[in-house]
Amino acid sequence: MPVYDYVCMDCHQPFEVVLTLTEHDKEAPKCPKCGSKNVEQEAAAFFAVTSRKS
Ligand SMILES: [Zn+2]
Repeated sequence: MPVYDYVCMDCHQPFEVVLTLTEHDKEAPKCPKCGSKNVEQEAAAFFAVTSRKS
């Protein structure tokens, strides 16, 4: 399962959530620190695979 990185916009707490794609599509997770749903997703490692050819 992919791990998503989030940052809480209220308390600026970064956190990780393991979600299925369905769960991820359904709703945003809550901040584990303050319980806010005002969170923003960071670029997940799952999707951050760039085809960098040197
Ligand atoms: Zn928070």
